[in-house]
Amino acid sequence: MHLARHPRVRLAHLPTPFEELPRLAARAGGPRLFVKRDDCTGLASGGNKTRKLEFLLGEAMERGADTVITVGAIQSNHVRQTAAAAARLGLRAELILERRVPERGERYESTGNVLLDELVGARLHFRPGGLDLSAEAGALAVELEREGRKPYVVPGGGSNPVGALGYVLAARELLAQADEMGIVLDAIVHATGSTGTQAGLLVGIEAQNARIPVHGISVRHERERQRQAVHALAVTTARKLGVPAPGFESVIVHDEYVGPGYGLPTPEMVAAVRAAAELEGLLFDPVYSGKGLAGLLDLIERGVFTEGQNVLFVHTGGSAALFAYEEELRA
Ligand SMILES: *Cc1c(COP(=O)(O)O)cnc(C)c1O
Repeated sequence: MHLARHPRVRLAHLPTPFEELPRLAARAGGPRLFVKRDDCTGLASGGNKTRKLEFLLGEAMERGADTVITVGAIQSNHVRQTAAAAARLGLRAELILERRVPERGERYESTGNVLLDELVGARLHFRPGGLDLSAEAGALAVELEREGRKPYVVPGGGSNPVGALGYVLAARELLAQADEMGIVLDAIVHATGSTGTQAGLLVGIEAQNARIPVHGISVRHERERQRQAVHALAVTTARKLGVPAPGFESVIVHDEYVGPGYGLPTPEMVAAVRAAAELEGLLFDPVYSGKGLAGLLDLIERGVFTEGQNVLFVHTGGSAALFAYEEELRA
């Protein structure tokens, strides 16, 4: 494996910090807790998609694209980071936003990430929920090509074997930090959605033979579906790099923290977001990292992670969406 063989543009502030969370750990009453600050990747309020976009937009630039198309839910952090990356590279951004989350107020479509999408100069295309978003992106690409533009389509969440390279690299980065600090990691935990983060981490950890379990806290799909999807992407990513693919049994997913559905708040998410903010001054988000942290805290309570262990939570970002959930977070 030699990542420099793959086209890349530099967008992220790397390495992101690796920090201890002593006050949150004391409250949780179990293992030592650490956080990998991928909320601090730097691009228009940061997040995990920036690592993937370094490789995806590396490919786009190599192909001579002048426009980036991507898709996501209304409050998508991925879409916002893609739009900001496009601005930085002088590309136009066309964003397809799906009304995936039912019964949110009017401001849901103008505040938080949507405001940032507009600020960085992207064009927004709103769509009803439940459509095939990659087909929508394909249709828009054809339309733009007819106008003489050269679009590059970034898949939802930036999750394909190119985007996942960003998290293969992240696995190497975080292991180097743990080694430097002399911390033996017993587990890595993070929120999983479009699968690129977990797939990339699994491939990177397997390639280094580090034997650290990676727990994905699902924010959308049920466990077996998510495991299949993560594994499928891990296999194609490993093949791209010529390294051994992680086995299916190494894909760990917890689906008990989704609540009523994607983007819909749970009381445990609100409690986790508040605890991280009050105890550590850290901002987690309502859709992803807050549910991920709620999962971690519950797994500690259930004795899955215990005293004497070291657990790393990958903070994947998302705080820009907090403002779209003001009511629930205040209540
Ligand atoms: C997209 C996202 C995730 C999930 O990462 P995937 O690679 O899509 O599984 C987690 N947290 C935040 C804040 C995100 O925006």
